[in-house]
Amino acid sequence: SIPLGFFGGIGAASKKGILVKGSNYLEALNDVKYIVFDKTGTLTKGVFNVTSIHPTGAMSKEELLEYAAFAEVHSNHPIAQSIRNAYGQVIKEEDIQGYNEISGHGIQVTVNGKEILVGNAKLMTKEQLSFKEPSEIGTIVHVAVDKQYVGYIVISDEVKEDSAQAIRSLKKLGIKKTVMLTGDAKTVGDTVGKQLGLDEVHAELLPQHKVAEIEKLDAQKSPKEKLVFVGDGINDTPVLARADVGIAMGGLGSDAAIEAADIVIMTDEPSKIPTAIGIARHTRRIVW
Ligand code: ADP
Ligand code: MG
Repeated sequence: SIPLGFFGGIGAASKKGILVKGSNYLEALNDVKYIVFDKTGTLTKGVFNVTSIHPTGAMSKEELLEYAAFAEVHSNHPIAQSIRNAYGQVIKEEDIQGYNEISGHGIQVTVNGKEILVGNAKLMTKEQLSFKEPSEIGTIVHVAVDKQYVGYIVISDEVKEDSAQAIRSLKKLGIKKTVMLTGDAKTVGDTVGKQLGLDEVHAELLPQHKVAEIEKLDAQKSPKEKLVFVGDGINDTPVLARADVGIAMGGLGSDAAIEAADIVIMTDEPSKIPTAIGIARHTRRIVW
């Protein structure tokens, strides 16, 4: 039977916008030693702004942005939303003929008979397109049209207001290791990692690589020690499912993430994670 105190704990958490799907997850939070975060939409706002546009010379900046916006028409990735916002015009569905979202890479689409590729360096390399590595720091979105590299767009995201405080609180609660996993470039990952005081950053990961990183950490810890993964569920539902406790950001997060998670943070604030651990510890003191 479940001790009554756990219901009190779940209730206290829900009042703070933390939905716990079972008392076993609250109990597991007591023994958390490793906390692994996704970057985009989890520690950062997931709201990118276009900071600069760099066509190779084959077209204008406006045209380059237009190609990218057409390619991103159906994607719910935060990068896609930012590019559509910057473009700011309505895109006609009938112009789009083929659409393929390539997880951890970007988009391949056919628009009025032209093949457009929009995504990261990995995608360009996969398609054997050569380009000069941009010197700007930020998330780089490369664009190719009909197998010709045509330029890149630089976009940037900001860390959430409470991310740094959340990491400091976790250290005070005795968390052994805070880690960030990202599909974004190493320069971007390292900048965020330093800004937030994270112990480890692993960048340029595909969704399946994120699962592999969790498995490596799992092998380091004792069976009693628990590992939490916190994500927004865009590309990371397998990782949410693999962790001892999967925590999803419920506001920005996808329905799939809310489904796959054990705990959902309705307000999207990373500081709710130390709050949840505090509630778990308080609950354990009452129950035993
Ligand atoms: P993260 O949440 O850590 O950024 P994702 O797996 O969601 O990781 O994305 C990894 C990378 O793949 C992004 O940083 C981006 O470079 C590229 N990417 C993914 N989806 C898109 C998209 N719709 N448009 C452009 N690039 C994308
Ligand atoms: Mg993501």
